[in-house]
Amino acid sequence: MTVRAKAQGAARKISGRSREAEVMGVAISHPAKTLWPDAADGKPVSKLELAQYYEAVGDWIMPHVKGRPCSLVRAPDGIGGEKFFQRHAMAGMSRLLDAVKVAGDRKPYLQIDRVEGLAAVAQSGGLELHPWNCAPDEPEIPGRFVFDLDPAPGVTFEMVIAAARELKERLEAIGLVPFPKTTGGKGLHVVTPLSVKKGDGLGWKEAKAIAREICARMAADNPAKYLVNMSKAQREGRIFLDYLRNDRMATAVAPLSPRARDGATVSMPLTWAQVKKGLDPKAFTIRTAPRLIGRSPAWKDYGKGARPLIKALKLLAGK
Ligand code: ATP
Ligand code: MN
Repeated sequence: MTVRAKAQGAARKISGRSREAEVMGVAISHPAKTLWPDAADGKPVSKLELAQYYEAVGDWIMPHVKGRPCSLVRAPDGIGGEKFFQRHAMAGMSRLLDAVKVAGDRKPYLQIDRVEGLAAVAQSGGLELHPWNCAPDEPEIPGRFVFDLDPAPGVTFEMVIAAARELKERLEAIGLVPFPKTTGGKGLHVVTPLSVKKGDGLGWKEAKAIAREICARMAADNPAKYLVNMSKAQREGRIFLDYLRNDRMATAVAPLSPRARDGATVSMPLTWAQVKKGLDPKAFTIRTAPRLIGRSPAWKDYGKGARPLIKALKLLAGK
């Protein structure tokens, strides 16, 4: 091959690569940079693959983040590098991302209101999405409960599954519709969409108290297994029923968000039928989740699952 032909080939490759490195209209710089060394299949996950993952599941993610401030875990050099938990809008950030002011803070928060924004998140090294749990565009109105089941080291995953199932029963008993997901880590999240009307007089203070009461009753009925106290020392052998996600500025990882952890796991939405012995959270990765979610009925009824918090409160109070 002549030098000239070689140079043309290289030029073609470069321009081909740069075309490839555009996702949802966003140019991805350093597309080949490794963010996860191993997606539990012996192969690394590149920055371009992260952007493509967000594109593949973006329509699924958006209803859960749109209209709410959303923190990011950024790890621009991959999970082995420095990690930042970023709440606020960043200087020079993409026009595809939004900056929203919220009462009580002069600095605007980061918000993702369109699917292309997820590609901008990938471009900025955003590996995890952590939205608030308010109703869309209503920071003062609780939009969902997220119960975070946190097992102490050594607690079996079977015990976490049992906890999720018991919590499901308790939520259904007060008229709520619960949806489970893996966290991509060691626990499970149980999410229940809420409907709150302005006249109900229910804000975050009340919602948090209700969430706490649900968890406190579960712990009181089985103190050997569960506790509602944050104290790590007291947690030994038990599951912390973390109701603290249910507050105005508290966050929880979004469904289908990747985790900046070993194995490139994601927070996988599940059906209750999947929440049984044998469930393996590590099976849900950036590589496997798009195909699996495409054919799963998980969370299909989330959109019509919201139930009145005021009614749940009355049932809880025995009225
Ligand atoms: P796991 O199942 O491993 O517990 P998780 O997502 O529940 O996974 P936690 O460590 O229990 O992780 O964190 C609970 C929530 O706290 C997270 O989902 C997140 O929204 C929030 N959080 C995580 N890291 C930070 C941080 N550095 N600053 C503030 N909030 C955070
Ligand atoms: Mn947790």
